[in-house]
Amino acid sequence: MSFAPIARRLLRAPSLRFFPVARVGGLEPQARFAKERQIAGGIYTILYLRCTSTASIDTIAAISTPPGRGGIGIVRLSGPQAASIAVQLVRLRHPLEHGHARLADVLDSDAEASHGGAAARIDEALVTFFAAPRSYTAEDLVEIAAHGSPVVLELLLRRAMALGARLAEPGEFTQRAFLSGRLDLTQAEAVRDLIEAQTLTQARVAASQMGGALSRRVGPVKQLLVELIALLEAGIDFAEDDVDVTPPAEIARRIDELTPPLKALEASFARGRIVHSGLTLAIVGRPNAGKSSLFNRLVERERAIVTATPGTTRDTVTERISLDGIPLELVDTAGLREGHGEAEQLGIARSREALADAALVLVVLDATQPLNDEEHRLLAAVEGRPALVVINKSDLATADPPAHQIAGVPSLPTSALTGEGIPALRERILALATGGAAAEPGMLTSLRHQQAVATALTALADAALANANAIPHEMILLDLYRGLWALDSLTGQTTSDDILNLIFSTFCIGK
Ligand code: GDP
Repeated sequence: MSFAPIARRLLRAPSLRFFPVARVGGLEPQARFAKERQIAGGIYTILYLRCTSTASIDTIAAISTPPGRGGIGIVRLSGPQAASIAVQLVRLRHPLEHGHARLADVLDSDAEASHGGAAARIDEALVTFFAAPRSYTAEDLVEIAAHGSPVVLELLLRRAMALGARLAEPGEFTQRAFLSGRLDLTQAEAVRDLIEAQTLTQARVAASQMGGALSRRVGPVKQLLVELIALLEAGIDFAEDDVDVTPPAEIARRIDELTPPLKALEASFARGRIVHSGLTLAIVGRPNAGKSSLFNRLVERERAIVTATPGTTRDTVTERISLDGIPLELVDTAGLREGHGEAEQLGIARSREALADAALVLVVLDATQPLNDEEHRLLAAVEGRPALVVINKSDLATADPPAHQIAGVPSLPTSALTGEGIPALRERILALATGGAAAEPGMLTSLRHQQAVATALTALADAALANANAIPHEMILLDLYRGLWALDSLTGQTTSDDILNLIFSTFCIGK
């Protein structure tokens, strides 16, 4: 077996890449650790590097504004040729200068080509130049803001490509910002989240992550882990030189110190996930219990979210609202009962689907009616799930309301008619949605983040166990490196190319 697979297995880092030393010389490595290890019968020096590529790259171009007509449309160019292409694309009235917008004419080059005459002006544009490295991508970057006419923007793009630019892949501008080290991976992901935010809270969380909130939270933990690794490595390297070997109690103390902040970080995913992705709440119950009235109450009290999802023709009515900044999809279902007509049966089948799919369930009971069999079944079905029971029509309830057997699911009275109990209902839905987890800076917002932190925690637990069992430090180090690699993957330092491509492909073109 050759060196690389063995080294990967020994270091438990399947995505680890190895470069010939000559190639490393072409990069700007910031060596973090250098370590000699015996692998596959030979002694190898393993450099743990963070590299900044200095290789020259091509110039990319894209229309950065959304497709369609608009007041303004922007063509963006990034790369070493950005400025030289831009000056040929438009007729500038003054030379480009970093950070300054310049007026320019967009010329009808197609007419020039086909009629051999002088090109006529087809639009007027503002051209802004950002010189490397003081730009979004850290490369030379030019933004041409013309009128938002798709034909003009496409003409500009086509000409840019004829002049040597390449059409940008989705997210490639941000990817370049990441590759140049201007943004780490959590910050790059936050750019996408900000663009896709549907509520102001989502935008705020994304903005804080874009500012590095998550990386700042991980940083100190990583620092402590690196110190522990360095301590153990020194003990191994200089074992014969009278360097004290770190006692197990000290190693245990240091590992213990790392765990609580990581656990807290992992726990923040409870809130971060729902702020990021939202939740579905199905409103179920018998016909006439007041489901639609409650739905309307909840929708009208909260600002409805503008959504690009086209309306559905299903019998369930769906509306997106923002509950304290959390995107909540309310699904008002057809009444559940053993239906008579075919259409009603269909509606009921869809209600059951909505019930099965929803993260949260709101069971609506009628305070004036005793529970029927269907409701008994429904309550039994939602027991143990995140569910709430509302006993609606509290305004009509007699002094002695029918005893509802709803043990196992929390309940509260409401009146959709008078509005009584609705604020309490909103609070209870919110508490159910968040599990009581409060918003905090630097929350984990994606499964990728959560898995990285979980892997780090498992690795630390393995290291603690190995230490407790007096396993040699070389082996403890493997666990610690695995933890470090997991934390590094969060910020993108050791993320494999496949995953990087996957992340950036979810961006829109031009960003
Ligand atoms: P759904 O079939 O469960 O969606 O029930 P609706 O929301 O259509 O309500 C059925 C009827 O009950 C309507 O006439 C509503 O005005 C009435 N209703 C709904 N909620 C209340 C309530 O809290 N109090 C009273 N008095 N009537 C209500």
